[in-house]
Amino acid sequence: MANVLVVAEHLDGALRKVTLSAITFAQETAELTGGDVHVVLLGQDVDGIAEELAGYDVAGVLYANDAAYANYLAENYAPAIAAAAEKVDATVVCAPASTTGKDLLPRVAAKLDAGMVSDAISVEDDDGLKFRRPLWAGNVITTVEVATPVKVITVRTTDFDAAEPTGAGASVEAFDPGTGAADGVEFVSFDLVKSERPELTDAEVVVAGGRGLRSGENFDMIMALADTLGGAVGATRAAVDSGYAPNDWQIGQTGKVVAPNLYFAVAISGAIQHLAGMKGSKNIVAINKDPEAPIFQVSDYGLVADAFEAVPELTEKLKDLVD
Ligand SMILES: Cc1cc2nc3c(=O)[nH]c(=O)nc-3n(C[C@H](O)[C@H](O)[C@H](O)COP(=O)(O)OP(=O)(O)OC[C@H]3O[C@@H](n4cnc5c(N)ncnc54)[C@H](O)[C@@H]3O)c2cc1C
Repeated sequence: MANVLVVAEHLDGALRKVTLSAITFAQETAELTGGDVHVVLLGQDVDGIAEELAGYDVAGVLYANDAAYANYLAENYAPAIAAAAEKVDATVVCAPASTTGKDLLPRVAAKLDAGMVSDAISVEDDDGLKFRRPLWAGNVITTVEVATPVKVITVRTTDFDAAEPTGAGASVEAFDPGTGAADGVEFVSFDLVKSERPELTDAEVVVAGGRGLRSGENFDMIMALADTLGGAVGATRAAVDSGYAPNDWQIGQTGKVVAPNLYFAVAISGAIQHLAGMKGSKNIVAINKDPEAPIFQVSDYGLVADAFEAVPELTEKLKDLVD
């Protein structure tokens, strides 16, 4: 059977939303292959998340609770995912194209002797499965076919809606991959940046600032606007390289890819490398003092203004509306 296996991601005891977009991709793929969607989940005490996953439109959830999976290590996870793929007869194995997915799936592909596609944005059946993926900062879209019987895919989650729970109870099965902990690899620590704000790639609203803000202190007004709207904060690479914003805020070709409902680009010129990470946003608002700035070509709402005046004023007005 040409089944599709989704590798689920979780953090701090909660399912990550990117997994739901990967499930949508898997459902579309399974419709083309005529197979079923299965989900695999590795961790420790993940029974609750496994039950939650069973509420989506999938045939089955396999989960493994083991100290070897308590912290993500590609060396421990890859053989277990490969074992799960064989157990459910998967011909397609997919995961979100997140930091974890990009690290893990090449190893899984190697274990399964499978060809791989990174960052798939669509799937179709045209005399065999074909996947589209962006190249060159999204300026070229290529169509890829994988010749091996098993195909391993990372999914650009911003291109697939999050699957909705249907309440249908899929089978939930604890399994022992029999692969355990890899020799010579030891988990040391995980330095997670803790924030009260939503995770950048999951946020409904993102407020991003650019080099035009001229200092890290001036990002305070970006944070104030984001907090008013319950959003996440992002930045351009130029702002990060200038030391105005931390690295994990970077959006773009070499940063994170986001597609929120509402994206504010403040003092950002709109270089193609930045657009590669945000042009899928549903509504783009640009604030820039240069009317010729390329960001206005992709924005739905443009304000030619000095950000130092416009952003605090906008934040105050929005606070009145929100309160
Ligand atoms: C291989 C490669 C990968 C890259 N990857 C990324 C990436 O992942 N993400 C990314 O962002 N970039 C990336 N870049 C860099 C990219 O090319 C641009 O240099 C960068 O995006 C520019 O950032 P910026 O818009 O903040 O700065 P600038 O281009 O300097 O623009 C600043 C803007 O602020 C406006 N401004 C100034 N003062 C004010 C004010 N007071 N009020 C309002 N507006 C004002 C200006 O009019 C200008 O439009 C990459 C480049 C390369 C070569």
